[in-house]
Amino acid sequence: MILGVVRKARPNAFLTALKPTPRPLTPRPLPVNGEREPAPSRKIMLSQFFALNDDHRAIADMAQTFAREKIAPHALDWDERKHFPVDVLREAAALGMGGIYTGEDIGGSGLTRLDAVLIFEALAGGCPAVAAYLSIHNMATWMIDRFGDAAQRGKWGPGLTCMDLLASYCLTEPSAGSDAAAIKMKARRDGDFYVLNGVKQFISGAGASDVYIVMARTSDDGARGMTAFVVEKDAPGLSFGANERKMGWNAQPTRQVICDDCRIPAANRLGEEGQGFKIAMAGLDGGRLNIAACSLGGAAAALDKTLAYMGERQAFGKKLNDFQALQFRLADMAIDLEAARTFLWRAASALDAKTPDATQLCAMAKKFVTDAGFAVANDALQLHGGYGYLADYGVEKIVRDLRVHQILEGSNEIMRLIVARRLIEQK
Ligand SMILES: Cc1cc2nc3c(=O)[nH]c(=O)nc-3n(C[C@H](O)[C@H](O)[C@H](O)COP(=O)(O)OP(=O)(O)OC[C@H]3O[C@@H](n4cnc5c(N)ncnc54)[C@H](O)[C@@H]3O)c2cc1C
Repeated sequence: MILGVVRKARPNAFLTALKPTPRPLTPRPLPVNGEREPAPSRKIMLSQFFALNDDHRAIADMAQTFAREKIAPHALDWDERKHFPVDVLREAAALGMGGIYTGEDIGGSGLTRLDAVLIFEALAGGCPAVAAYLSIHNMATWMIDRFGDAAQRGKWGPGLTCMDLLASYCLTEPSAGSDAAAIKMKARRDGDFYVLNGVKQFISGAGASDVYIVMARTSDDGARGMTAFVVEKDAPGLSFGANERKMGWNAQPTRQVICDDCRIPAANRLGEEGQGFKIAMAGLDGGRLNIAACSLGGAAAALDKTLAYMGERQAFGKKLNDFQALQFRLADMAIDLEAARTFLWRAASALDAKTPDATQLCAMAKKFVTDAGFAVANDALQLHGGYGYLADYGVEKIVRDLRVHQILEGSNEIMRLIVARRLIEQK
């Protein structure tokens, strides 16, 4: 992998299937004062909330097949060995999953957010932790596509979409998580360079990733004093903490990212000084949908395992699925997942259509779907009895993986805060 080289974008399977519209390699200005980007060329129809079209089904099928063949058979082993399957991620990228909603001119698939949630749900059926890293990579790649200038898009875009380069998103710090505007990492301008000092906490993919989107402070003016930067792995002064020991998400590393007089070219600044908070939050709208989709996929897989198990396991002379109390529980699990799925599609469609309430719907869906997904996975464990607690059945891993989705990319309390603030503002 050679950073700094303008790469040629590769075609991918989604593009071949869906006949894309190419986009020019030009920077696009940040939206100001609530203004929204023009809607994408593939129109979102209201009916998509309720029925998938042939394109959607083809995309979901491709991701499902990939999850079944390339991810699911190894998921327990990767979890146990804490193995980050970069080779498998690159295979996913070869099918177009490295830049799902990224511009085709830099090798992305140019798909919609609705397509993305279908893909992440399918992949998470194989392993939520692997799907979730891919979702973060997609979020960071989109940020460069969306907010980068022509040189930045050309320099990193093609490598990221084919996943020769892996990306991480660096906002959280040891003393600033939910209160993201309180970050302390400083970026000081020094001629044609910026010098970064500070520590980022809990960074997914850190140490393995090649490109870090880092939010740092260029002034003391709260959220308005934040600026986004692209920091390359080999930047002088950049180092990483130890791989954290975690409850779940073991198939991807989590480390501190440490900047100690870390010197990066001024040309690596993403957007203008002071736009970092907006850029960070814009990334998270889609990121939250993707994480929710990962909960949905994990929970759906847990429900499938439960149905199979209850059709075989006997108690009191009957199969478990002959007990009406347990049938009702299965029904409730399926109802909750379907409600979550429908809501997720609605939020994804709102983000695609860039409606004014898109951010709020993304926050609502993230809270609703990740809570529902965790509850269903936990019920699945309960319905497996003692066997659900054993690693070999694969359900406890799903529970462990899904738990963190209620905490990260904005905790579910913060999702409520976003929703409540808007409700009160609109009063
Ligand atoms: C495995 C893992 C991977 C992660 N990956 C990344 C990553 O790649 N990049 C990144 O930048 N970050 C990442 N994070 C960080 C994650 O986004 C934060 O942990 C999360 O935002 C919460 O911040 P915190 O842990 O500092 O908790 P705190 O902010 O300290 O919150 C503690 C508790 O208080 C609640 N709380 C805080 N403020 C309020 C309030 N005003 N009202 C109500 N409740 C409140 C929170 O919801 C939470 O329950 C990751 C975290 C984990 C565990």
